[in-house]
Amino acid sequence: MGRSWENAVCLPGSSHAYLNRFFPAVKKVLKHTLEEQIRQMQEFFHLKVTGKIDTETVQVMDQPRCGVPDVLEYRTFGTERWNKNLLTYRINNYTPDMTRSKVDAAIAKAFKVWSDVTPLQFRKTTGPADIEISFAYNEHGDNIPFDGRSGVLAHAFAPGLGLGGDAHFDEAERWSETNRVNLFLVAAHEFGHSLGLAHSNVRGALMYPTYSYVNPINFRLSDDDRDGIQSLYGKFTRNTLTT
Ligand SMILES: [Zn+2]
Ligand SMILES: [Zn+2]
Repeated sequence: MGRSWENAVCLPGSSHAYLNRFFPAVKKVLKHTLEEQIRQMQEFFHLKVTGKIDTETVQVMDQPRCGVPDVLEYRTFGTERWNKNLLTYRINNYTPDMTRSKVDAAIAKAFKVWSDVTPLQFRKTTGPADIEISFAYNEHGDNIPFDGRSGVLAHAFAPGLGLGGDAHFDEAERWSETNRVNLFLVAAHEFGHSLGLAHSNVRGALMYPTYSYVNPINFRLSDDDRDGIQSLYGKFTRNTLTT
């Protein structure tokens, strides 16, 4: 906060990287200028659309966030879904920031956000799993390296085989059950991607790309998130409990 454009001397490079990463030029558009990318970002985040990197835009760029792009070159999210309701997950390794039981609890609670409103059920396993969860530093085998403390907190892949559905958490963050960084909140967001949701530009939605803390006790899934996941999997119904 309070960071002005004047003293942000290193910005042209880093803001360009931000735009190319999260608002990549869509191939169909013949002439895609930096100004258009800035406009696209400003529209997404409901900022004043100036096409210029102003203070408000820089402040959004500085916020910790998810690593999945906000504009997708290929529509990988929003069309893919799992073709089964019982999904397995495996926690490949544990962050040393929290006890194992607290990590297990945060992950289970994050899946419950989605199973509460759909016919989906999640089962933890130590064998092969649909959704694999890892904590990792920097480059970690998928050519989408993490960036150290803050910035990108985590990323996840749309439903599918192999990396599909997997969720990776940047071990450079300090994971916690309190505010910074709350594992439950980030995991619930990432599992939205694991299930096929893209980012939402609705403020307050779980699938909004930037991190903002709410006390997990008061957490409520927004209508936007619920409508999104139910459009892929349908609503929770009582008889799905018996299947
Ligand atoms: Zn995300
Ligand atoms: Zn990764």
